[in-house]
Amino acid sequence: MTALLEVEGLKKRFVADRTVFGRPTAFVKAVDGVSFSVDAGKTLALVGESGCGKSTVSRLVLRLIEPDAGSIRFDGRDLRALDANALRAFRRHAQIIFQDPYASLNPRMTVSQILTEPLALHDLVPAPRRRERVEQLLRLVGLEPRFARRYPHEFSGGQRQRIAIARALAVEPKLIICDEPVSALDVSIRSQILNLLRDLQDRLGLAYIFVSHDLAVVKHIADRVAVMNLGVIVEAAETQALFASPRHPYSQALLSAIPVPKPRAKRSRILLQGEMPSALNPPSGCRFHTRCPYVIERCRVEVPQLLADGTGHATACHRVAELPRPDAIVLADGGFSPVLEKLVAAFSRGTEVAGANGVGIAGATPPASL
Ligand code: SF4
Repeated sequence: MTALLEVEGLKKRFVADRTVFGRPTAFVKAVDGVSFSVDAGKTLALVGESGCGKSTVSRLVLRLIEPDAGSIRFDGRDLRALDANALRAFRRHAQIIFQDPYASLNPRMTVSQILTEPLALHDLVPAPRRRERVEQLLRLVGLEPRFARRYPHEFSGGQRQRIAIARALAVEPKLIICDEPVSALDVSIRSQILNLLRDLQDRLGLAYIFVSHDLAVVKHIADRVAVMNLGVIVEAAETQALFASPRHPYSQALLSAIPVPKPRAKRSRILLQGEMPSALNPPSGCRFHTRCPYVIERCRVEVPQLLADGTGHATACHRVAELPRPDAIVLADGGFSPVLEKLVAAFSRGTEVAGANGVGIAGATPPASL
């Protein structure tokens, strides 16, 4: 099956500083060679800390900003080769839902106007039938048609996000980019919106790119997960496989931060040492090497490639074959496995650790039977 969206070698850098004559002198490499694909009806989650480049990737995919390099194919067509008319047609098929439903809806427009606007822009429904379509859209996202005459400020946060979803659905898209769609909502509302997104996906065959820093949410909704760090993907796998056995040390640290839904449970978490390096001046070699307890000399000079193992689980780490494979860090019941304690100890040690093959820093202590 051909993927709905195929991204290959995507790169984007932003000018961070200029001379008084306007010549760029410093760049931020926001996205530095990202590749992935998304099938119709499936969800790919992009996860990572703030500033890792996941939101930039979503804007590049929609061509809201232009990439410096790489290819983006949607339904078999090269998006970078589209002219203005073809790009407008593409935008009908790829929509975005933003984090903040308060800011993404025009406060001066009624819900009816908000939902009618895209129908008219793409000339999808004859004018006499647009009111009926607005009512259908509201029902689809669980809102009553009588709300059509109200303004956004008359709704709760969850209801506004439902309106934003209805607006995205108005143009019958094939792909929706969900950029932190529930992080601004109350916890009690989040599951309702996530369930709505899943339900719509089942009914309409939508593909999602789900951008989030919240792994608990990602576990609930994604089919596949790509973990990003400083503009690159460090691990990509089916959701179940990643949560059962994360292989990259960065993924292990991220997963350990998922809250445990048990008030009395003993909570352990891998605390990454040091500050997140600046994307202005990312570390050489592996970009995680300044915070990784398993770093060896090779990590400082050689960039690890994202290599798949034949099961679809890809990792960008020189030592992936020799590092321990933890059992599920996050158990099905939300608790943590005993393996996490050992991982926490390895990260907390903050020392450089020799590899099983003997390559490493003299005098360093290997992690105990991880
Ligand atoms: Fe990066 Fe080396 Fe750590 Fe692997 S072991 S994550 S390559 S620093």
